[in-house]
Amino acid sequence: MSDCIFCKIVEGIIPSTKVYESANVLAFRDIMPAAPVHILVIPKRHIPTMNDVLPEDGGLIAELVQTAASLAKEEGIDESGYRLINNCNADGGQTAYHLHFHLLGGRKLGALVEGHSS
Ligand code: AMP
Ligand code: ZN
Repeated sequence: MSDCIFCKIVEGIIPSTKVYESANVLAFRDIMPAAPVHILVIPKRHIPTMNDVLPEDGGLIAELVQTAASLAKEEGIDESGYRLINNCNADGGQTAYHLHFHLLGGRKLGALVEGHSS
């Protein structure tokens, strides 16, 4: 998609710090890291939100999750722990409308939802 920032990163029009690339998946460091490790794992294909994932995308979703798990190991946070987060649409806090998972770790992460203590 021509006006999508992550499509532009896939195409190399916008630079990024890539940490993994395959035929279908790209992972790069978040420009505003919220934790010592903050990597975005995305499909190369433009999928706007989690709501647009199709049944036939099962293999792609598995590759995204496996990529995140193997990057967690590479970054040395697989044993200490990490989160894999997708924000969907406005209430979920999505700002970039190209499907992505945030891999976050390297410190003790806070409450999952604002105002919730656990
Ligand atoms: P979300 O709010 O879940 O849509 O996440 C979008 C994420 O993309 C945010 O954490 C931004 O910091 C990150 N981001 C935006 N532009 C770039 C960029 N050019 N390179 C790397 N990360 C970016
Ligand atoms: Zn896109």
